[in-house]
Amino acid sequence: MEEKLKKTYYIVLGILILLFFTKDIDVENEFYKNIKLITKPDELLVLVNKNNQLLNSYVPNNLENISLKFANKDKYLRKEAKEAFEKLASDASNLGYRIVAVSAYRDYNYQNQLFNYYVSEKGLDYALECSAKPGHSEHQTGLAVDVEGENKDYDNFEDTKEFKWMKNNSHKYGFILRYPKGKEHITGFKYEPWHYRYVGIDVATTIYNNNITLEEYLNN
Ligand SMILES: [Zn+2]
Repeated sequence: MEEKLKKTYYIVLGILILLFFTKDIDVENEFYKNIKLITKPDELLVLVNKNNQLLNSYVPNNLENISLKFANKDKYLRKEAKEAFEKLASDASNLGYRIVAVSAYRDYNYQNQLFNYYVSEKGLDYALECSAKPGHSEHQTGLAVDVEGENKDYDNFEDTKEFKWMKNNSHKYGFILRYPKGKEHITGFKYEPWHYRYVGIDVATTIYNNNITLEEYLNN
């Protein structure tokens, strides 16, 4: 009888150890699963990613035009993000850097078209890697901006002196590099040197100093 109990004990222990070591692997594979609808989309620290979705009807109520000095055409951000971005781009310009918004607020339907365009042109795998499904793009919050630098090629923004400046200074204006290299398993998105998210100066500084992502910051 005692032997049988012992055996059961070891089997249960084994299962628990197995569960413990596989739970992280599960988390990595859970993108676009167990999706939660976002209930407070206007919050400054709203988390939009592959597991947290905005309603298709959500439009921020305080979108404002970015000055055309710092945008390649009409681009909109939420008021607080727009003001911070213009200050950032203006200070950068005074230092000899060219930082220009090439994409900012994108509505649900546009994101839907964009995602479907990638699927039809390059296939589903490519679309999933390089784009977000509608409702899962941070650009719908009006708090995210894609920028280009001196080479006028956002895809190769990493090669510019502007990137180096943004990397070490954008937090002073409340922006974070949202999808850093090596954090893809946490953010669900590939490294994007050009994509910045407004979270306010205090939070951006904490995220910068601790070298973490918004997901990690919100879990702490
Ligand atoms: Zn972006």
